[in-house]
Amino acid sequence: MSRERELKEIAGDLRRYYEFQKDMGVKRVFRESKETAGDRIERKYPGPEEAVTAKKPILKEDSVPMSREDVINVPEQMGMFDSSAKIMPLEEIKKELFARMSSRLFEGSRQIVFGEGNPKARLVFVGEAPGRDEDLQGRPFVGRAGQLLNKIIEAMGLKREDVYISNIVKSRPPDNRTPTPEEMAEWEPFLFQELRSINPEVVVCLGNTASQSILKTKASLGSLRGKFHRYGKFKVMVTYHPAALLRNPNFKKPLWEDMQVVMKELGISRPGD
Ligand code: URA
Repeated sequence: MSRERELKEIAGDLRRYYEFQKDMGVKRVFRESKETAGDRIERKYPGPEEAVTAKKPILKEDSVPMSREDVINVPEQMGMFDSSAKIMPLEEIKKELFARMSSRLFEGSRQIVFGEGNPKARLVFVGEAPGRDEDLQGRPFVGRAGQLLNKIIEAMGLKREDVYISNIVKSRPPDNRTPTPEEMAEWEPFLFQELRSINPEVVVCLGNTASQSILKTKASLGSLRGKFHRYGKFKVMVTYHPAALLRNPNFKKPLWEDMQVVMKELGISRPGD
């Protein structure tokens, strides 16, 4: 690629990134000064060991538009928080999933799409099931919805590698149909094992299916979003699926409000906040 074309692509990427941040309500963008991006993430997004002692940055009152943090308790499922149950490393969970579920792939699905990201993430995003691109590449959230999810993560001041991304169902349903409750119940235990292994502070459920499945409720996404639900020791935030944002940009604002509540909980502040 020519230098000029490369620069044009970089400029285009930057423009799209800032436009997205603007849509998300970010008013000011500050250039990084002496500190490196690595320092910034380390300080503002401490790892699980650090999180115990690290003092969370104090956010200005007006930096988060709402603070509906009523915590709703959801009954524990499948002995997930049974402290005597074995906590498996992700690689082992993956092996077990492949061993047990390879024969349960949906018709037309090419492969199992396991979760990916930081095995010690403080923040986990959970979607419904892989789509076409994910089925082809064997990675979660790599299609258009995934690219938007990457932008959301970046607008939060994080990188995709900082978080963990997974799905309830790990095989692509035919014609991308919504998995049935029975199908979700079959795959869900592996997601719970992933969560136990990662032990995040916050789990974000993307869209109705993931939310209703994890929270075991039929309540609407609109009524569930914007506040934390407690699932065992994790706090669960419900928000719109990025694919829904692609269809209806009006969901951007509430999604960003939900992410701000998550950022506040994790003590993440953006430059300028
Ligand atoms: N939608 C999902 O719910 N999951 C993916 O991995 C991709 C799209």
